[in-house]
Amino acid sequence: MIGTYRRRAGKPAGRRRRERPGGSAAVLVIFGIRVLYRVVGRGLLHCQRCGGDRPYRHRAGRHWLTLFFIPVIPLTKAGEHVQCTECGTCYRMGVLDLPTVAQMQAALPAGMTAAATTMLRAGDPGSSLARRRAISAIREAGLEGYDDDALTADLALAAEGIEDEQAPLASLAVQLALPAAEWFLADVVRIGLADGPLTAAERRAAAEVAARLGMTPAHARGVISMTEESATA
Ligand SMILES: [Zn+2]
Repeated sequence: MIGTYRRRAGKPAGRRRRERPGGSAAVLVIFGIRVLYRVVGRGLLHCQRCGGDRPYRHRAGRHWLTLFFIPVIPLTKAGEHVQCTECGTCYRMGVLDLPTVAQMQAALPAGMTAAATTMLRAGDPGSSLARRRAISAIREAGLEGYDDDALTADLALAAEGIEDEQAPLASLAVQLALPAAEWFLADVVRIGLADGPLTAAERRAAAEVAARLGMTPAHARGVISMTEESATA
């Protein structure tokens, strides 16, 4: 008993004051709720604050019950966002739907390559006049080193039909204003016109490209016939 008494006497005064009249000690428990985030993905976004393409981390949050500031029990989800790793700005997930500068720069040549091969396949893919016109249109769209071998390879890929040939046009349509879409379509029509008047299949190919760019059939017909007229003038 003496030993026991001495140990009690040695306890800090503050702790002893918390002892209740019945003899049981009151225990101070600090608990709370906090949100913790974990990184579930990474990639590249166009950060409006930095003004360019920057790496991001995709963070998902969860509420946790904490005991003495230590998370112990996971609770409900607490939303997710993407964060620029350069400046720390957080964005809603919708920001990933916007194209990055790199994607925008790649969309035009990719879209023109898709449209040009569509038009060539609808007509005569072996026609040197049409091929030359197609190569020139793809170079003007940004692929300066594009040549006949590259075109042969792209035509072969399109013929295999492994990828959706028109998919690059859908990406391009998001960022192409209407006058630019008209210019783009006229360029594609001129590939078909390079070796003579448009065939029915070439006309269908042009209409398909126009539809992918979001143009109405009437609008497409207008651009197609204007391009034909200016080619024969
Ligand atoms: Zn940033």
